[in-house]
Amino acid sequence: MASTMDSVDAKPSLVEISARTWLLRVRLPGHSFGSVNAYLLDSDDGAVLIDVPWGTPDTYAELLAQVRAAGVEPAALRYVLLTHHHDDHAGAAGLLQSEYGVRVAMHAAEWRALRARFEDGGGFAHVLQQWLSRVGADPAGAEFALRQYAEIASRTRPVRPDVVLADDEVVSFGGRRIRVVHAPGHTPGHTCYLDEDLRLLFSGDHVFASRRANATSRPYAPERPLKEYWASTERLLALEPAVVLPGHDDPFDDLAARMRVLRAVYDEKRSEVTQLATTRSTAWQIAARMRRRRAWSELDGNARLAATGEAEAYLLDALDAEMVTATKGRPVLWQTTSGVSG
Ligand SMILES: [Zn+2]
Ligand SMILES: [Zn+2]
Repeated sequence: MASTMDSVDAKPSLVEISARTWLLRVRLPGHSFGSVNAYLLDSDDGAVLIDVPWGTPDTYAELLAQVRAAGVEPAALRYVLLTHHHDDHAGAAGLLQSEYGVRVAMHAAEWRALRARFEDGGGFAHVLQQWLSRVGADPAGAEFALRQYAEIASRTRPVRPDVVLADDEVVSFGGRRIRVVHAPGHTPGHTCYLDEDLRLLFSGDHVFASRRANATSRPYAPERPLKEYWASTERLLALEPAVVLPGHDDPFDDLAARMRVLRAVYDEKRSEVTQLATTRSTAWQIAARMRRRRAWSELDGNARLAATGEAEAYLLDALDAEMVTATKGRPVLWQTTSGVSG
């Protein structure tokens, strides 16, 4: 394990994690992590990939080169198991499907979210607009979000799964058994996979070794992103994995310790947004007041939307804990229950 712990840069790399199990670190130029981790699991009866990077020509070629470097021919791939539909984890799935007949598998809830997002003929723009007015986005922010969605939709070819997975199902091949663990939070159908014999937990975007994972509020996110996130976390802890293999960043072994650190950060953030709702405020306004390294005025449209989604997720969590109240209608106005009335 020592070698994987050391490989923090974004160079392409192939690391043997365990017997016939490799981490393929594929570069994603311009991505905030700089790379994504795909995992290759080989057996006497074919191989499986957990997640695949973007389907751009260079990235796809780098993936295939790494699969071959591990001694596996792409034609021997039987499945791609997706943790979720984001293009840094699923982008090349359609290419492997059409070129090599690899069967693509994802959780039923993720397939529903993917279809709603890209295949319902303009319905998403309406849902996005409703969300923007709910959080109180300013006109420039709303315009940015709608334009950004149109761009993403125009370049996205959603992959159709050959296999729709259910929670707790076991995918078996060549004597290996991979359990499907539905872990919503980051997305509604976000799925972790457990290699039952080796106790390896492939954790997608649920948790990283050093950075905070995101479970934020946005269209087609879970209704209560953080509530689901922490419920999923309890399930993952109960699996007692020996090693956690995340979708970005380095593998690590003590999941409970990592989640304790994150819990403290989440609790602190939740009380911060609660404090900021002293006068009736929208999620957008509260996001603008949150402490961060760069001032709100310096954030681009994307960063403002992300910050607002994060603020709303904490506010929803605070609402369940009766730390804030929320008005009905759009925009939703938040107010702390202990603060000054305004
Ligand atoms: Zn993601
Ligand atoms: Zn990701």
